[in-house]
Amino acid sequence: MTMMTIPPRPALLDRPHQDMLIGGQRVPALSGKRFETRNPATGELLATVAQGGAEDVDRAVKTARAALEGPWRAMKPVERQRIMLRLADLVEQHFEELAMLDTLDLGAPYSRTFMGKARAVALLRYYAGQATLIAGDTIDNSAMGDVLSHTLKEPIGVVAAINPWNGPIGMSVWKAGPILATGCTLVMKPAEQTPLSALRFGELCLEAGVPEGVINILTGLGDAGAALSSHPGVDKIAFTGSTGVGEKILHAAAASMKRVTVELGGKSPNIVFADADLDKAVPAAAMAVFANAGQICSAGTRLFVQSSIREEFMERLAAFTRTIKVGDPLDPETQMGPVVSLVQMDKILGFIDGAVTEGANALVGGARMTGTGYDGGFFIQPTIFDNVNDGMTIAREEIFGPVLSSFAFDTIEEVLQRANATEFGLGSGVWTRDLATAHRMARGIRAGSVWVNCYQMLDPGVPFGGYGMSGFGRESGPHHIEDYLETKAVWINLD
Ligand code: NAP
Ligand code: MG
Repeated sequence: MTMMTIPPRPALLDRPHQDMLIGGQRVPALSGKRFETRNPATGELLATVAQGGAEDVDRAVKTARAALEGPWRAMKPVERQRIMLRLADLVEQHFEELAMLDTLDLGAPYSRTFMGKARAVALLRYYAGQATLIAGDTIDNSAMGDVLSHTLKEPIGVVAAINPWNGPIGMSVWKAGPILATGCTLVMKPAEQTPLSALRFGELCLEAGVPEGVINILTGLGDAGAALSSHPGVDKIAFTGSTGVGEKILHAAAASMKRVTVELGGKSPNIVFADADLDKAVPAAAMAVFANAGQICSAGTRLFVQSSIREEFMERLAAFTRTIKVGDPLDPETQMGPVVSLVQMDKILGFIDGAVTEGANALVGGARMTGTGYDGGFFIQPTIFDNVNDGMTIAREEIFGPVLSSFAFDTIEEVLQRANATEFGLGSGVWTRDLATAHRMARGIRAGSVWVNCYQMLDPGVPFGGYGMSGFGRESGPHHIEDYLETKAVWINLD
C-alpha cells in the first residue's frame, strides 16, 4: 500500500457545539438540547450536536417547502447542473476533511474513508448530467377528434432523507444527487453516531450556490426521524437503514401517502465454486465481510464454498484473515477499525456468544480486542464461523459486524436454493471461471446485485437496491431520478 498522509484535524471541530443547518443558517435546536458524538476508536468526545425535535422538523420542512417556490424553482436545468458541478469540485477539494470527519466519527480507517473520494465526486457529476436529461413524452392517443397529449415531469417536492451511519459522506452525496438534479428540496437526517460530515457537506452546498433552504441538515435522534416520516409537509422519504426502522417508516408515511423508497439490511451470500481463481476469491471473500468492520449493508456474510475445495479454501481464508491489521483508524496501514459504538459492539458480541451456544465453531477470532491500542475503543476480532448450519441465528440475521458464517455445498441447484432461503435480497457474489455457471447463478439469485468474480462493485450509472426485506427502489442508474419526479398528463383539444 502506498503511504498516505493523514490530514490535520478538521477545522469544523474547532467548534465544540455543532448546530444544524436550516435555511442556510447553522441553528441550535429550539429546545436547546444537544447530544454527543464520539470517536469509537478512543471514546473521545468530538462535539455536542443540536438535537432536533418535532418542532425543528416542522421548521426545516416549512423552510424546504418555501425553498421549492423560491429562486430554485426558476432555475433552468443547466443552472442546477452548473451548481452541482461546482459542488462536485468543492467535494473533491475538501475530501480529505470530509473523510477525516467520517474516520473520527465512525472509526473507519482513513485509508478507507479517503478512498470514497472518486465515488462521491463521480456521483455528483453523474447526477449533474441527469439534470439536463429530464423529459416527458408526447403520446399519440386514440381520442375522438384532434387532441394532443403529452406528459410533464415535475419535482416531487420536499424529500426527507434518513441515513444510517456506516458510510456517512457517501450517503449524503447519494441522497443529495437526485434532489438537486430534479429541483426538489431536502431535509436530511444523518445518523446520530455520525452527523459531522453531513453538516460540512451542507456548508459546501451553500458555497457551491445551492439556494438557502434547498438542502437542510436536521441532526437528531430516532424521534427526529420519526417526526420527519410522519410530517404532512414531506412528499417523499428516501430511507437507508435497518429493516425494522424501514417498516416503521412505511407505516408513518401511509397517513399522508408519501412516496417512499427504502434501502434496508441484508444477509448476502458469497458463493465460491471449485473452479474459481482462489488467489482472487480468498482475499475478496474476507474483505466482503471485514471491510468497514462488517458494517456494510451488502456485506458477503454467508460464505458458501464447494465441498471439493472447502478445506483448502478455509485454511487460506483463515490465514489471510489473521493478517488483517485491526487498530488505529489514523494509521495508514490499518485495514479494519472499531465498530461504531458500544451498543453495536455488544450486539455483535451477543451474536458471537449465541453462535457458540448454538454449536458453531470460531475458526478465527470470536472476541473483543483489548490491550494497548484497543482499550478505549470498540474493537472486535475479524471472526469466521465454521460448521454453521442454515438454521442458526448467525446464518439468518444481519449482524452488521465483522462476523462471517461459512457453509459447504455440492451442486448449483442446492446452493441456489440455500442462498435464496433468506428474507433479504441485497447483494451476492459468485466465483467461477465457467461462463454457464456464472450466468445461471446470475439469473437464479434473488438479490438486487450479483457480483461475479468481484464483490461490492458500485457505480453511479448502475442501479443498487434490494429484493424482499432488503427494501425497494433503486439508487443510482438512469431511472433513479424518476423516483423524484411526478408525471402529469396534459390533454389539449385542438378542435
Ligand atoms: P437504523 O437504526 O435503521 O437507523 C437509520 C436512520 O433511521 C438513523 O438516522 C436513525 O436515527 C433513524 N431512525 C431511527 N428510528 C427511527 C424511526 N422510528 N423513524 C424514522 N427514523 C428513525 O440503521 P443504522 O443502525 O443506522 O444502520 C445500519 C442499518 O442500515 C443496517 O441494517 C444496514 O444493512 C442498513 N443499510 C442499508 C443500506 C442499503 O443501501 N440497503 C446501506 C447502508 C446501511 P438514529 O441514528 O438517531 O437512531
Ligand atoms: Mg460518532
